[in-house]
Amino acid sequence: MDLYEHQARELFEEHGIVVPRAEVTDSPKEAREIARRLGGRVVVKAQVKTGGRGRAGGVKLAADPAAAELTARQILGMDIRGHTVSKVMLAQPVDIESEFYVSYVLDRAAGGFLAIASAEGGTEIEEVAATRPQAVARVRIDPAVGVTSATAQEIAGAAGLPPQTADVLVRLWQVLVREDALLVEVNPLVRTREGRILALDGKVTLDDNARFRQARWGDDAAERHDPLEAAAAAKGLNYVKLDGEVGIIGNGAGLVMSTLDVVAGCGARPANFLDIGGGASAQVMADGLSVILSDPAVRSVLVNVFGGITACDAVADGIVRALEAVRLTRPLVVRLDGNNAARGRAILDGRAHPLVEQATTMDGAARRAAELAHTA
Ligand code: GDP
Ligand code: MN
Repeated sequence: MDLYEHQARELFEEHGIVVPRAEVTDSPKEAREIARRLGGRVVVKAQVKTGGRGRAGGVKLAADPAAAELTARQILGMDIRGHTVSKVMLAQPVDIESEFYVSYVLDRAAGGFLAIASAEGGTEIEEVAATRPQAVARVRIDPAVGVTSATAQEIAGAAGLPPQTADVLVRLWQVLVREDALLVEVNPLVRTREGRILALDGKVTLDDNARFRQARWGDDAAERHDPLEAAAAAKGLNYVKLDGEVGIIGNGAGLVMSTLDVVAGCGARPANFLDIGGGASAQVMADGLSVILSDPAVRSVLVNVFGGITACDAVADGIVRALEAVRLTRPLVVRLDGNNAARGRAILDGRAHPLVEQATTMDGAARRAAELAHTA
């Protein structure tokens, strides 16, 4: 999950990185009050989870509280790269001497982290990297060691940043580690005319695998953009929307991933990932089916289950009861294997639903589901 700038700012501040004084609001009237508290002149900044706000008109200087109210009114409701602005942050303006770029990002391929830094901050780093690659320094960070003050000095030196930025580099690493982040970025990190180092804009991406430790940021189910994913998340389902036409339900992430591959191998495209897990109840099966069937792109559905602790007869019972709760509108191919497979298949045969058919192998089931998707 990405954080808003004001949330990133809050984390930086908690870890001792200097940030401008700032407050957030969704009301132009309150923006005027905040500007007054901050000394009159303020920078009004759109809070959206996308970069390039400055260029899009989402970062504006206001000379006094009345101008701050006006500017906030202009920016609130604005669309920036498909994101509607519902909050603005008002910050004390800073007298910038130079702008730098610093970030730490997970490098999965290298099994570690990468520090990226540049003395040419302010613009998006991709642009700097494309036009002046020599201006962007990359330093590998061993996650077991982290960023010591020696590493920080190495990063600052490689990028040509002033030595005082080393302290920020150490603290920024602490933000990443303590807050379970996959990315922390400050752009720009600035040096003021008085020689102070401040983080003027920040981006933090948290690791969703640590969501149980991130309650303070609220539930992000509400901000999922895909309505099917939002509906699935509300039902507690492990569902990811994809672009194909074959709906997929399986138990176990590995089996579901393999099912996606096999369906693709049959010349069809999976419409989703859905892992109903180990103890798949009839309710979970019904919820999963109803989400998948509400996807208009779905032409057929494939249920691929390997019975383990939850045996196939229990899964078959679940499917039969799900068929009572959900009106099946597209063909359903079921492959049951593993514990009590024969009993499970007999239960489905007994139900004899006209749109349900069974296959004995995963390949056969995927082929049939692909075929039905193309003819149904
Ligand atoms: P972004 O466009 O979304 O990256 O938004 P930023 O918060 O990074 O702001 C874009 C640019 O606006 C920065 O690179 C600065 O040049 C400028 N800016 C932002 N805040 C201030 C400020 O307090 N004082 C001055 N002088 N410029 C600012
Ligand atoms: Mn920025």
